[in-house]
Amino acid sequence: MTKKYRPTWAEIDLDAIKYNVEQIKTCIKKDVEIMPVVKANAYGHGICEIARLLVSIGINYLGVATVDEALRLRRSGIPCGILILGATLEDEALIAASNDITVTLCNDNILKILVEWSKKTGQIPKVHVKIDTGMGRIGVWHEEAFSFIKRVVDTGCIDLEGVYTHFSAAGRDELYTSLQIEYFDGVLEEMDNAGIKVKYRHASNSLAVVDWKKAHLNLIRPGILIYGIYPKETFRRSKITTCHDS
Ligand SMILES: *Cc1c(COP(=O)(O)O)cnc(C)c1O
Repeated sequence: MTKKYRPTWAEIDLDAIKYNVEQIKTCIKKDVEIMPVVKANAYGHGICEIARLLVSIGINYLGVATVDEALRLRRSGIPCGILILGATLEDEALIAASNDITVTLCNDNILKILVEWSKKTGQIPKVHVKIDTGMGRIGVWHEEAFSFIKRVVDTGCIDLEGVYTHFSAAGRDELYTSLQIEYFDGVLEEMDNAGIKVKYRHASNSLAVVDWKKAHLNLIRPGILIYGIYPKETFRRSKITTCHDS
């Protein structure tokens, strides 16, 4: 990075980041993978340094917000899976696909572009379909999700590696979060019934990692917890290992 002349700096203790990941591991089942979220320059901690550390301790997947962040990781030699959690525009989806970066897919327009790219290059782009269960930001509305997922699978040239959703009020509104889990489970059930298998099913941000164990599925997406910040003040008093099964 070019040097910026500011009389301030931050020292990041990478051992502390490693310790935080280990603490998270004590809270999840063995078959659950961790996708640390390193968007926004790893929450200000330095995306490349943090990513390098995470890969060195066995992390297989990282979550970012934008194509630029993903490319920055690829250019610095990060070899692991990278999922863009934000929406991608048409040209961005192609750049992502050609750099082995996983796109969040939630509309037919981008699907069509990826299919054309696949036919042209003979390569199979990796996607995770995002399902909107009430966040209202990006994603296919859960009632339409199954038919969209079927369209993705039916193309025969897209690797549907994952499906996921995002909670809008975990920690603030239990009822709403339960409802989001119910909607997401509904889509997963439809997929099961149709014999559609995906490698990753995920929903949990930091708060849900601790408070909503049943939403761990087989991948969790902690962000703020990786950096040692409590997503809720009451966590300060309860050890992470005490998280309940609600
Ligand atoms: C930012 C983000 C996360 C991580 O959230 P934290 O609350 O920092 O754990 C997880 N998933 C998605 C989709 C996000 O955008």
